[in-house]
Amino acid sequence: DLIERIASDIISALDRPFMLGNDLAYVSASIGITLYPRDGETLAAILKNADQAMYHAKDAGRNRFSYYSPSMQEHAQARLQMGTDLRAALAEGQLSLHYQPILDLTSGQVFKAEALLRWQHPTLGEIPPTEFIPVAEELGLIDAIGGWVFESAIATVARWRALWPADDQANCPLQISVNASPRQFTGGRSIDGLLARLAALGLPGHCVAIEITEGMLLDKHPAVAAQLGRLAAAGVPVTIDDFGTGYSAMAYLKRLDIDTLKIDRSFIRDLTTDPGDLAIAEAIIAMAHKLGIQVVAEGVETLEQQSRLNDAGCDYSQGFL
Ligand code: C2E
Ligand code: CA
Ligand code: CA
Repeated sequence: DLIERIASDIISALDRPFMLGNDLAYVSASIGITLYPRDGETLAAILKNADQAMYHAKDAGRNRFSYYSPSMQEHAQARLQMGTDLRAALAEGQLSLHYQPILDLTSGQVFKAEALLRWQHPTLGEIPPTEFIPVAEELGLIDAIGGWVFESAIATVARWRALWPADDQANCPLQISVNASPRQFTGGRSIDGLLARLAALGLPGHCVAIEITEGMLLDKHPAVAAQLGRLAAAGVPVTIDDFGTGYSAMAYLKRLDIDTLKIDRSFIRDLTTDPGDLAIAEAIIAMAHKLGIQVVAEGVETLEQQSRLNDAGCDYSQGFL
């Protein structure tokens, strides 16, 4: 109809590259559409609706238009509510860490575990991290939450270390791996907090490991490389999570002192039936080992997957199994 034709015309007109001085420049448009008086009767209501519809168009990949719908309003409301609840969650101890063992395939022993964040909401029950972490990131709460995660993980590993023979503390291999959000590397104080806490307790850097995603290595933000450097200087190993799903950054692997790669679950799932997935896992293991990097397979659910990974020379295995 007319509205959509006009919106499409605007988007394609803006989509054309143009010269800015001597450079070729590109812009894209995201358009939110709301109808008067169907969706709202005041100027304020209409602007708010159009704004929400525009954010919806951006989230859907930009360079497109989107209509306002009442469910967007509900969605925005729910996120806002979740933000309020999250602030309370930290203060009231509703967050906890669960530890998934990381099996050393060579020795068959478990000295490492990954900390996975859980939120027990007082009325909604358990909310998965995939739902509340994006909200925490968006609302600027991730540094506080991530700081809490670091602190709890360190307290736990300190408790575990206390069970190791007192005369052999220097060789204690116990390690907790924690997930970190990109925002914790580009701003905030949770990395400082982590390093300060380790120093205050006299713990070696290697009793924690930090898991980041591939995309972060490509981030040109100067803070990212600086923070990675500080972790390396303190002896805190860095793991690349979900390896193989993002933009690969082979050159960065070496330059940035990466300790471990985690093969993403999506390659492990069909490992025993899909020769392509097995080949990818084997190639990642071979490449990592040539670079002196260790490999963890994640999402291992069956003994068969585990034994294939063992045959392929994978160092560690982690998952529901
Ligand atoms: P991730 O780091 O890739 O964590 C692995 C996820 O896979 C976890 O889900 C875990 O429960 C699940 N998983 C483990 N083994 C298996 C398996 O054998 N099969 C299947 N199907 N799934 C398995 P979870 O705990 O819901 O965490 C989801 C994501 O949330 C994590 O993905 C991580 O990106 C993020 N996350 C969790 N805790 C934190 C945290 O403390 N801070 C930050 N920033 N992110 C976190
Ligand atoms: Ca992880
Ligand atoms: Ca992962």
